[in-house]
Amino acid sequence: FWGCRIVYLMIKHPPTRLALQHFDATYSGQLGKIWPSVRVALLSERKYGALLNHFSNHNVLEDLQSQGCSDFISYRDEEGRCFCPQHPVFRVSTRRHLCGLLSHYLMDAASVLPCLALDVQEGHNVLDLCAAPGGKTLALLQTQSISFLCVNDASVSRTMRLRKVLNSYVPKEFLTNEKLRITSFDGTQWGDIERNTFDRVLVDVPCTTDRHSLMEDDNNIFSKNRIGERRRLPQLQAELLLAGIQAACPGGEILYSTCTLSQSQNQSVVEQAVFVVSLRPLTQMFQNTFYFAPDLRLGEMVLPHLTSNFGPIYMCKLRRLT
Ligand code: SAM
Repeated sequence: FWGCRIVYLMIKHPPTRLALQHFDATYSGQLGKIWPSVRVALLSERKYGALLNHFSNHNVLEDLQSQGCSDFISYRDEEGRCFCPQHPVFRVSTRRHLCGLLSHYLMDAASVLPCLALDVQEGHNVLDLCAAPGGKTLALLQTQSISFLCVNDASVSRTMRLRKVLNSYVPKEFLTNEKLRITSFDGTQWGDIERNTFDRVLVDVPCTTDRHSLMEDDNNIFSKNRIGERRRLPQLQAELLLAGIQAACPGGEILYSTCTLSQSQNQSVVEQAVFVVSLRPLTQMFQNTFYFAPDLRLGEMVLPHLTSNFGPIYMCKLRRLT
């Protein structure tokens, strides 16, 4: 009897439905008249981007171009290349070149923006505080200018996935102990371990992952047994951001990012920050590819839109002054 009742409740209130109810209640106020179109986009099939792997010699360019994909970041070739499709669905299977490395990594094209915004320079020491499964780490490594990269994720199993991704895309000579450190620490404690060290810190925090929450009942943060975890998110995010700021050296820059539209997980978390660096030049450069939220008080946000169905990605760049 109880089993039936629990199954009935889950069918009646699956986490995806609870997520939609929650988003309707909060985002309609937050986004006003653009919420209905963002909502339709979020519920439609997302577009992917293909991050080309510079380390692999396999040429998938022709395949990508024949599917109508265009490179939207080739303006700075050294930063890597990412191809966006015209059509929502495209499949170019990853190829393993003779060198053993995979040709490209599929990700939400808007996820590349936080890595570009971090603006890694030659010789930089970089910390990726919440790195698994490693899409952004891979994008950062494509610059080939990082002197030392520290990648961390609190989850041991996700860190193992991250290792696999790195081994599949990056040559061994870039994965030596002198160039890379992989850890599974609680990022909120980073300030106790290593302060004033990194030129650039990426703080890509756990969040309500809005698209996933609307599409997948499995492992959904809106499921009843994860209510506490969901409520604690803004606190965890603020602690991670604070730890990231402490890990940066004076003058170092920190990029905070999420894949949620939620103001309480985005602007409210960074409100305490010392100095916010404008990302307007970056968003102007990509205004033909992504639909950016107009008039955001702090940071920038890619809004899902049926004509360019990427995101949501929120990002805010901070500079530590002292
Ligand atoms: N940056 C990743 C990428 O591009 O593939 C995605 C990161 S995901 C949005 C957030 C990650 O934060 C998860 O992998 C999760 O395991 C990790 N995480 C959660 N709590 C953490 C903590 N206290 N310290 C460090 N990582 C944490």
